[in-house]
Amino acid sequence: MTRPIGFVGVGTMGKSMALNLVKRHYPVTVYDLNPEPVEELREFGAEPATTAQSCASNAEVVITMLPSSPHVEAAVLGADGVLDGMRPGTILIDMSTIDPLVTRSVSEKVARRGMRMLDAPVSGGAVGARDATLTIMVGGPTELFEECKPIFEAVGGNVVHCGEIGMGEVVKVVNNLIAGVSMAVVAEAFNIGVKAGADPKIMYDVVSKSSGSCWTLNHVLPYPGVLPESPADNDYAAGFMVDLMRKDLSLAMSAAKGLGAPAFLASVAHELFGVASNLGYGRRDMSAVKKALDALTAQG
Ligand code: NAD
Repeated sequence: MTRPIGFVGVGTMGKSMALNLVKRHYPVTVYDLNPEPVEELREFGAEPATTAQSCASNAEVVITMLPSSPHVEAAVLGADGVLDGMRPGTILIDMSTIDPLVTRSVSEKVARRGMRMLDAPVSGGAVGARDATLTIMVGGPTELFEECKPIFEAVGGNVVHCGEIGMGEVVKVVNNLIAGVSMAVVAEAFNIGVKAGADPKIMYDVVSKSSGSCWTLNHVLPYPGVLPESPADNDYAAGFMVDLMRKDLSLAMSAAKGLGAPAFLASVAHELFGVASNLGYGRRDMSAVKKALDALTAQG
């Protein structure tokens, strides 16, 4: 059964995900502060909405795919927000990467109004969103997870129930801490190699078949002309933005602080992404963290 879906936040990820739902014959209403992708999706058969509230009003399931915690709080709880549009019994699925504590507090407010909620952040990037191959990490009651599984399978390829509400976000933060530190170290190591005179293509051919091989090396190596296709070939067009990785590293740091756990590597990588952002690369792909290393490396 294809249930009517409201989709709030149709940027890099949300636009492709909403389109995949349309292709699977879900009736989809879309809303974004930016009218451009809403208009594009209208041409593919989605219904445009002018507020988050009206986007939610005919939906049985509302999906949010927004940058971070404050955006989710504004779109769901704020004026003309999703919560004012949703009817009792309907379902909110937040697929953004946000603070698990905010997820839990939003879910309590949703429950008080008679609605149900899952958190379901994703991994797999813009390509995974386009090809509906995303990994989806879901938190919330098992029956609700099962009820929503067909929707997840329309936009993703690897759907995992991670536990109670907020646990999808916890697992996502763990993944992105690993990805962020790995992105930073690939950039740092290659910068040293290049500075010492090694060819990036030769380094890639060796490292990709050695113990240093990892996802960031193989998909977003920050040097042009090495991978078959990479953001570096396209002036670091995002992709997954520097500022989003910076946000995810700060989510890892704040989770660690709350738990009394160390987060040494998260904080170093966070600083480095911060330098790239301050240099003007915040909206470029995370591999533009290389620009921070360029700026910090002795010239000559
Ligand atoms: P994006 O910035 O491209 O898209 C977010 C969209 O939300 C924008 O179009 C923006 O206009 C809209 N928006 C912001 N506030 C709004 C509001 N109050 N009401 C309606 N629309 C609003 O970001 P993205 O890359 O699509 O990422 C979305 C989420 O997915 C983030 O949490 C990110 O961390 C996560 N994520 C992204 C990737 C990736 O590769 N881009 C991969 C995995 C997870």
